[in-house]
Amino acid sequence: MTYHLEGKVALVTGASSGIGEATAVALGRAGATVVVAARRVERLAALERRLAADGVKAAALALDVTDEAACRAAVEHVVGSFGGLDVLVNNAGVMLLGNVEGADTTDWTRMVSTNLLGVMFLTHAALPHLLARRGAVVQVSSTAARVVRAGSGVYNATKAGLNAFSESLRQEVTERGVRVVVVEPGVVDTELPEHITDPEARASRERRIAHLRQLKPSDVAEAVLYAVGQPEHVAVNEITVRPTDQT
Ligand code: NDP
Repeated sequence: MTYHLEGKVALVTGASSGIGEATAVALGRAGATVVVAARRVERLAALERRLAADGVKAAALALDVTDEAACRAAVEHVVGSFGGLDVLVNNAGVMLLGNVEGADTTDWTRMVSTNLLGVMFLTHAALPHLLARRGAVVQVSSTAARVVRAGSGVYNATKAGLNAFSESLRQEVTERGVRVVVVEPGVVDTELPEHITDPEARASRERRIAHLRQLKPSDVAEAVLYAVGQPEHVAVNEITVRPTDQT
């Protein structure tokens, strides 16, 4: 299927690796102007060059989504540079698994600040612009929003909270033309688990997924593209994409 996003401006957070990077590439190939945001600017610069070599209009933007002022400035920068914003992909996230008992609670602060508050700040800043252009916001949630496990409670809470926030937002804005899309991937082969600080939690996840043929980031990017590539009257609200091997 070919999608046409010419004339659209997209902001993708967490685009320095994994699903965000693949999503930026997919949206760019479909014709969108893509602003790629994250903290590791050298990675973003390399992606910007790759996109430009493919003929995609792209720009890299340093952004820590936990910083509310930076989120507002990022949206204003995109609108000032490219005249508006049509698609916000809230993809930046961290998954710092571990039990509640004895947890390093700084992991909790990082997860809530990034996966939940960061999404809220950016969505709030982007909303007037998305309303002006009848745009879309894509939330990269997780099957962790639906399936709760011991050792994953705070990550589960952030993704379940993200789904709740998104459904409330959908009801608020859908009649004014803004589409809210929640994408829930299962296990995807990315750098995400490398940041887990609890060695036992990390080992336990590795054992649990050892038998799986994991999704590739591009598998999830295709789902995002499908959702935002639909005609304006079609709102794809929720997509769950799991590896076939994942129960
Ligand atoms: P990666 O670790 O490859 O990507 C995470 C991205 O988030 C990086 O680009 C990172 O960039 C960015 N990021 C993290 N913290 C911040 C921050 N404070 N400000 C800005 N950017 C930040 O993992 P994935 O691609 O797998 O993760 C992307 C999303 O997909 C996450 O929301 C994750 O929860 C979700 N997901 C992943 C699954 C998987 O199995 N991999 C399954 C289900 C959902 P930088 O460090 O440069 O800032």
